Amino acid sequence: MGRLALTNLIMNTDINPGPIVSVGIMEGRDQLRGWLDGRFRTEGGACLSGGFVAQTRDGQVIVSDEAGRAVARSPALRLSAEGHALLHLFGVVIGSRFHWERPEDQTFQGNLLILPRPDGTITAINEVPVEYYLTSVISSEMRAEGPLEFLKAHAIMSRSWLMAALERRKEPCRARPSARNVGSDSTDEIMRWYEREDHHLFDVCADDHCQRYHGITKIISPQAEVAVKATSGRVMTYRGAICDARYSKCCGGLTEDFKTAWEDRDIDYLTSISDASVSHLPCPTEEQATRWILAEPDAYCNVKDNRLLESVLPDFDQETKGFFRWTVGYTRHELEDILTAKSGINFGSLLDLTPLERGPSARISRLRIVGTERTITVGKELEIRRWLSRSHLYSSAFTVQTRRGSDGLPEIITLHGAGWGHGVGLCQIGAAAMASRGFSCEQILSHYFRHIAIEKVY
Ligand SMILES: [Zn+2]
Ligand SMILES: [Zn+2]
Repeated sequence: MGRLALTNLIMNTDINPGPIVSVGIMEGRDQLRGWLDGRFRTEGGACLSGGFVAQTRDGQVIVSDEAGRAVARSPALRLSAEGHALLHLFGVVIGSRFHWERPEDQTFQGNLLILPRPDGTITAINEVPVEYYLTSVISSEMRAEGPLEFLKAHAIMSRSWLMAALERRKEPCRARPSARNVGSDSTDEIMRWYEREDHHLFDVCADDHCQRYHGITKIISPQAEVAVKATSGRVMTYRGAICDARYSKCCGGLTEDFKTAWEDRDIDYLTSISDASVSHLPCPTEEQATRWILAEPDAYCNVKDNRLLESVLPDFDQETKGFFRWTVGYTRHELEDILTAKSGINFGSLLDLTPLERGPSARISRLRIVGTERTITVGKELEIRRWLSRSHLYSSAFTVQTRRGSDGLPEIITLHGAGWGHGVGLCQIGAAAMASRGFSCEQILSHYFRHIAIEKVY
């Protein structure tokens, strides 16, 4: 069914499939195993199909068939799909480094580009038109059984994000640093955030860092296809430029400012809003944040209806329970072990966690970690979430409760938190809830992204 739906989309010539996007599927692997379902052609004209293994040797990619015979060799190997040929890749890791990480066999349309890396590993890239990519993203990010206006809003938002990224790659010289992460590290302050400039060999990766793209492995629901077609070529713009639209799973009742998660600059359409029919005030101080997090405020994303959540969350996201408000507890030793493992720093005995700076949604952007050996201030929100959990903390909107022993040292450290993800831009759960209450796709987008327009760019 999944294949059929997308094949229909391809065959349907009434939509412009848009430009080609290159999506990084796998990196850092010794070999790539897969199955070519149909005919794929190399640039040298050879025709391949069936099972294959790709490896690198001396800067070349070597593809062998099932019998172990080398059938193609090149410094950068592109396999172009003919007709409706499909590509299956085995053991693709999804949710990399997050709590839902797992390997999956995945199926893709479009071409496969295999690149060798200097360290002898392989990078696998899928080249696919934007509209097909989006149909998959909608079905990978969400269950695609959610309300249609929500899926349409998601399609416009995901397309905007992607088209803005493609535009930026065209710029001859990028103003921002292209390191793996940006920020500033000093001996006692580590400020990091992660941007898409991470990717040099392809436009976007297939995981949560960019947008989840699991090919056509999952059933592509007719709803997702309808949503992409109904919004084909449409993006959000702000003063004539395509919006770099951001989104996360659940804001917790207030969305966050762009600069709490990334670079220090204000972006009008990525400014905090109250995700509710009533107006909640921003909570940047400790007192406000504590009151906010320990409350159960009325908000679009404070969803009690499990059926709505089931209709929008993929199975592996439904494993995450209670994300509007949540609690995580550690013994001091547990947290010390996690901190050392994740930061590589020995803090000695942990004495205190002190939030120094919060955004309007109560998300911490600077956290001081006080130990007997070291005291370090860490930021921004994602780095804080990484350091304080074996996988990732749901969000950095938390308050710290410490139970101390007779020696004054913490015994139990409890984090009470709000929301799931960075909270900037659209709140996926809130948007789905708005759609189920009858809001239109345009109303949903202009609720989360202030002062935007919707325009057709192709
Ligand atoms: Zn990425
Ligand atoms: Zn929300």
